[in-house]
Amino acid sequence: MSTWQPYLPYNALLCRYNEIATKGRNRHLFEEHLAEGLQRILGGLGLLDFRFPHGRIFALPKAPKTAFTPADLDLLRQKARLVPGLVSVSPGFLLRPNLEEIDGAVRQHFPTVHAAFRACSPPLEPTYAMRTRRSDKSFPLTSEQLERRFAELLLPERPELRLDLRHANLVMELEVRRHQAFLSFERIAGAGGLPPGTGGRVLALLSGGFDSPVACHQMMRRGCMVDFITFHSSPYTPPAFLTKVCTLVRKLNECQRRGRLIAVNLLPAQLAIRDHCRSRHRTVLYRRFMLRIAALVAQDFEAMALVTGDNLGQVASQTLPNMAAINAATSIMVLRPLLTYDKLDTLALAEHIGTHAISVEPAPDSCTVFAPDDPATAVELDAILDDEAGLDIAALTKACLAGACVINANSMRQYDYLKIHPHLDDLPETPATPGAPA
Ligand code: ATP
Ligand code: MG
Repeated sequence: MSTWQPYLPYNALLCRYNEIATKGRNRHLFEEHLAEGLQRILGGLGLLDFRFPHGRIFALPKAPKTAFTPADLDLLRQKARLVPGLVSVSPGFLLRPNLEEIDGAVRQHFPTVHAAFRACSPPLEPTYAMRTRRSDKSFPLTSEQLERRFAELLLPERPELRLDLRHANLVMELEVRRHQAFLSFERIAGAGGLPPGTGGRVLALLSGGFDSPVACHQMMRRGCMVDFITFHSSPYTPPAFLTKVCTLVRKLNECQRRGRLIAVNLLPAQLAIRDHCRSRHRTVLYRRFMLRIAALVAQDFEAMALVTGDNLGQVASQTLPNMAAINAATSIMVLRPLLTYDKLDTLALAEHIGTHAISVEPAPDSCTVFAPDDPATAVELDAILDDEAGLDIAALTKACLAGACVINANSMRQYDYLKIHPHLDDLPETPATPGAPA
């Protein structure tokens, strides 16, 4: 987040996106999804009027509002990072593309920007650059001539400002197009990736930890719409667990049109596993139930894949052999966007998207219920299937779903899942397990 930029009465936002993603006929769709995401996530700025010149989106405050307020700029500087598909955004001045008007805007606003820059603490190296992009080649001055012109105008009066074209701290940007010019002094990074709604629907297994919310965000950054499923073990896990998950969902839903949350009580399966299976296998067996149940819900929600926050080798359930045994419980695609991340990178991302402060609050998770002291780190699928032979998987799945509810993460109201989705009451036979002995 920029720390020193002043609050100028900017009349537009210039939104940059990754043009490579928009080649061909999808461009309009892509731009519309991005505009929709911008309006939703930056809703606090009021209604926006979008314009779509080639390769850019301009967002203007809707009339009668003519300029963004300081509160709007604070919100933009805080929330732009959450907009999937947005590479960066600059608040600035949309002008008519003539030299007189550009000159006037620079003379009027540069002194304020410069004063704010000088006042910033800790002070930055006083380096200046102007970057010009001139797509209208009929404009009387070239980019270089424009840059030289303004350096000659601005620098002599400010002897401490040194021209540094590569690493300048104070950067003035100008785009000159056929129908408009745009002057700005600030670039705010977006989330990058692809806009919401362009990547299909997935169902994420969301726990209260650090990893799974970041995994959800990474899927949203690829344009996916994410619904959420969480497993608790009430009364062994406290109500505070669901409160925490709802807080995470609300935070994650700031980036997308509201994703649904379903909470499933895993306890019936966990009790049977505790009583009939080897204790060292518990975590893997729990996870296999989670995937089975999630796969049924995914079908119901028309999600094409499950998403987890698994990270290779992080804990016993996330070794390759154990993940393979867990995966074998279902045939649905399971995506693990954090598989290769370093924990520190995940934590930094969690901080960046605002989930860290929520995840850090302690709340016991389902996986800790009856957790063994020495979980197996390399299970054999045959041994797992042998354990499961003593369980009535379909009945246990049904018992878990009987306690499932859809939760409105805003109001915390709960609705009986099977009342909303009654066909799941009539579950299929035990799902086929690839690799299971005939
Ligand atoms: P986090 O909980 O954020 O993922 P973690 O290191 O605690 O981090 P694990 O507990 O091993 O990871 O879980 C791995 C993945 O399994 C989670 O990222 C999540 O996708 C899924 N998972 C684990 N526990 C639950 C749960 N109670 N409800 C839903 N999904 C869960
Ligand atoms: Mg966890």
